[in-house]
Amino acid sequence: MAYKSFNPFTLQEIASYPEHTVEEIQSMLGRSNSAFLGWRRYSLNKRLERVSQIADHLEDNYRHYAIVISQEMGKKIEEANQEVIKCALLCRYYIKHSGEFLKKKSWEIGRDSVRIQYDAQGAIFGVMPWNYPFWQVFRFAIPNLILGNTILLKHASNVGGCANQIESIFTLSGFPKDVYQNVRVSSSRVEELIGSSLVRGVSLTGSENAGRSVAEISGRHLKKVVLELGGSNSFIVLPDASIRKAVKAAVQARLVNSGQSCISGKRFIVHKSLLPEFTKILLSELSEFRVGDPMLASTSLAPLARLDLVDELERQILLSIEQGAKCILRPERRGCMISPTVLTKVKPGNVAFDEELFGPVFSLCSYNTLDQAIELSNSSRFGLGATVFGRNKEHLERFANELDEGAVFFNYPVRSNPALPFGGVKNSGFGREMGIYGMLEFANIKSVFLGKKK
Ligand code: NAP
Repeated sequence: MAYKSFNPFTLQEIASYPEHTVEEIQSMLGRSNSAFLGWRRYSLNKRLERVSQIADHLEDNYRHYAIVISQEMGKKIEEANQEVIKCALLCRYYIKHSGEFLKKKSWEIGRDSVRIQYDAQGAIFGVMPWNYPFWQVFRFAIPNLILGNTILLKHASNVGGCANQIESIFTLSGFPKDVYQNVRVSSSRVEELIGSSLVRGVSLTGSENAGRSVAEISGRHLKKVVLELGGSNSFIVLPDASIRKAVKAAVQARLVNSGQSCISGKRFIVHKSLLPEFTKILLSELSEFRVGDPMLASTSLAPLARLDLVDELERQILLSIEQGAKCILRPERRGCMISPTVLTKVKPGNVAFDEELFGPVFSLCSYNTLDQAIELSNSSRFGLGATVFGRNKEHLERFANELDEGAVFFNYPVRSNPALPFGGVKNSGFGREMGIYGMLEFANIKSVFLGKKK
């Protein structure tokens, strides 16, 4: 029984789902390949019709799916509503742009005519996390399905209910059988899929450790892999920033999804002259937050998704304090609920700086010069994204050019958007999702020589 869901607020078990056996996985692989042979022949318009049905279905039923998400991983119901609606938006984005993204391109080389076309390759294996249990799956699966690939999806073992619901959405929206299949295997068994000659690519969203392991297995089997891993985003406040606006954005950036987001601002690098005021306003803003029932609209902060995740966060907070950080707002814990926490004097070499803290913890650092801010930001082993708050355009441009990140946002928390390529550098992974780049990761970019120009 690898898949077990429990409600992080009530701590009650919801359901458990049996793992698929070795024989079942072999059968699913074969069926995915058979489905691919038919699906690749569908016209783009026919594939897009199915995606349009998904978008309609999600928009009509988002409240139902949001409840499943909130109950299984504890997200605030309003955030869960937004997550499902965002999946529909992503479908609509690709419905609008896929024709242009996948258009064959012809030109001449001397007297010869040539062309490139974007072909599907077969079954792509996705391994996805629980923190945005719908969004992560859709942003990976939809562009691949439009391209003509099929999907085998291993979801995280604490969101088996979401995984089943997602599979049923594809069936209800008229996708041919087996084009999308939900695979339940423990993480120790992913080689059964990656090693199959029927799997043509692998995409993992998750932690560094999972990334290392999946990349190693994929390398052994010569499979292309996309890795969307963790982050410890910096949130840099320049001396000319509006402090109130910066604090509001910082709170938003850190507390979205109760701090369990790869792109949350995690290291707040604030100019020395602003730090006392920034800290004072931050503490005052945080005094408004209460952790509670994610199903209530009045709840300002939801629980974390699992008890072991809270244990790990507490360990990281305590270790950071032992290593010299000062805790000026202490965490209070009950079950999976943990209140906002503020650490100051955080520096490289301190766990709160070096590791990813997946919960409502603000790590504050200060700097004197822009060079120091850039150096501090870049000294993380992660490189997913950064926010820079300030007014001077030249200074902002310097940060855009010199930060080693997959994304830099001016005066705004880092967000994902279907139109913007998303992904990291360094230990945050490689490859991109979304936009045209995400759509082409698992395409066979095929050159066709058409012969002499007439
Ligand atoms: P996780 O423990 O790595 O799990 C993610 C997925 O990988 C789950 O399906 C998990 O399955 C599987 N997995 C874990 N270890 C594995 C292994 N050794 N081999 C194969 N599969 C393995 O991560 P998480 O705690 O669920 O998610 C949080 C992490 O994901 C954070 O680091 C966060 O920053 C990152 N994340 C990154 C992005 C991005 O776009 N860059 C987005 C969201 C989250 P089981 O549940 O069965 O273990």
